[in-house]
Amino acid sequence: MEQLAKQTSGDWAIFDQCEYGLKIPDDNGMLVFARKRTKILSTILGITRMSRNCSRCHHNVHVLGGCRPTVFHYQAHTHL
Ligand SMILES: [Zn+2]
Repeated sequence: MEQLAKQTSGDWAIFDQCEYGLKIPDDNGMLVFARKRTKILSTILGITRMSRNCSRCHHNVHVLGGCRPTVFHYQAHTHL
């Protein structure tokens, strides 16, 4: 990725998604801010202004590798 950044003259924006309103359900089903560290490479002018660290003004849960998996029950359908 660093090589791609050099080739494209792109800039990095590094931010915690809780600062942009990302919420996920906690163990009790309540929506809480989710601190998910994110790094974006872009050629958009001024993208670095998106960089923002968590202000720690709210309660966070950490998102590591995605949200808790949800179990889906698939129902078989037959079309005869
Ligand atoms: Zn936060």
